[in-house]
Amino acid sequence: MTGLKKVIRHPASCNVLVAGSGKSGFAALKFLHRLGCRVALSDRAQKSQLDSELLQWLADNDIFYETGGHSFELFTGSDLIIVSPGIPLDIPELSGARKAGVEIIGELGLASAFMDIPMIAVTGTNGKTTVTKLIGELLQSGGKKVFVGGNIGTPLADYLLSGQKADVAVVEVSSFQLDTAGDFRPNVALLLNISPDHLDRYASFADYAASKMSIFQNQQMEDAAIINGDDREIMARLSKTSMSAGRFVFGRDMGKSSGAAVAGKSKVNVCVGTDLEEYVLPEPLQESPNRENAMAAIIAARLMDVPRKAIDHGLAAFQRPSHRMEMVGEKNGVIYLDDSKATNIGAVQAALDGMNQPVILIAGGRGKGGDYRLLSPSIRRTVKKMLLIGEAREAMAQALGGDTQIEMAQSLENAVRKAAQWAQSGDAVLLSPACASFDMFQSYAQRGEVFKRAVQRIVGGD
Ligand code: ADP
Repeated sequence: MTGLKKVIRHPASCNVLVAGSGKSGFAALKFLHRLGCRVALSDRAQKSQLDSELLQWLADNDIFYETGGHSFELFTGSDLIIVSPGIPLDIPELSGARKAGVEIIGELGLASAFMDIPMIAVTGTNGKTTVTKLIGELLQSGGKKVFVGGNIGTPLADYLLSGQKADVAVVEVSSFQLDTAGDFRPNVALLLNISPDHLDRYASFADYAASKMSIFQNQQMEDAAIINGDDREIMARLSKTSMSAGRFVFGRDMGKSSGAAVAGKSKVNVCVGTDLEEYVLPEPLQESPNRENAMAAIIAARLMDVPRKAIDHGLAAFQRPSHRMEMVGEKNGVIYLDDSKATNIGAVQAALDGMNQPVILIAGGRGKGGDYRLLSPSIRRTVKKMLLIGEAREAMAQALGGDTQIEMAQSLENAVRKAAQWAQSGDAVLLSPACASFDMFQSYAQRGEVFKRAVQRIVGGD
């Protein structure tokens, strides 16, 4: 009997190791402990770096834990290992455990095995959080009790622990979670797009793309797969992927299948079942890529039988999450946009392709191994100047030097000041880094806040 099956049938006789003590690791520990398993924790971080609430819980429940490294025997001697998304799957301890026949899954793979309500799963390189939240809003507008979580916010295991009963769960799913998702089978799976990302962790783009495509692998005929028909990477792989679920395509054209298609500047047609319905999108959702995000979300809501009136209300009420093309200031006809969440090339491409005015672009940070030259066409079209910060600035300058005027900046504040000096009425100053933030900031959110404050100083001063 494999580890997870044993945990389900005979929890009290199981030794389960949780590797990594982040939010989802802690949730998994509590859930497994509640089930009656013998649990242990292993984390590479020092004890002083662990969350104080977690340490208190470990002490209160007399749980064994090791910090400052992983010990081989603990890994190989377990019935099941729950691995955090942040831990590479090829570390020697996990390889050893795999060789010893130990099952290794993530918190999503564990928790989803205990779910008894429909699950909608959203993946893609970009747009996951936006679409997950939008679907949650549309379902709520249709009177459903919804759990929204996964890779954003609350882990699925915390939903199970809460004792609450939702009608449907909407979960954001990253590629790292998909790599360890076990038998995870969403009733509705959305794949928004695939473009290069996390190439510091995957051996190749093909591996990363395969991870994204795997969201469909356990689905059955009665399930639904919602797919971006305009995404070449997805469409190229679709014919080679064995998929049982019914397909719903969104994009410029839905072809002969059901799905959603653009029908004019602010209109989209949606066909789920037999009727073709026309939706008028509210202003914040009219431009690409949010128009595509909206189409994907409407299909999911219609599949859950949300009436179209409720969808109209939900679309109108939707607010884009912070740090995603967020307007944070305006002065002398220049607008300032915070797109700090654009941590990869595809997100910056989408941002620039949606701009209708000249852009002064602030980019850079910690690179993730993508090819910045993919940005050239978008930069040539919209970017009049570019300011680069962070570790990746030399590499970016080298790749994009021929496309626009480039200057280095010492800090984000410095970049904002320079951008404000250059900008003329009608321009946009856009922070859309194409990089992770960890070389200079704690998170993309902190980077966005620093940008916002620097903009406020400019907008406030004369
Ligand atoms: P994720 O959760 O996948 O990181 P977010 O919704 O947080 O996605 O958005 C991340 C970045 O991608 C932001 O810069 C946002 O403006 C951009 N974005 C949102 N939707 C899309 C999309 N469909 N295609 C490309 N970029 C997108």
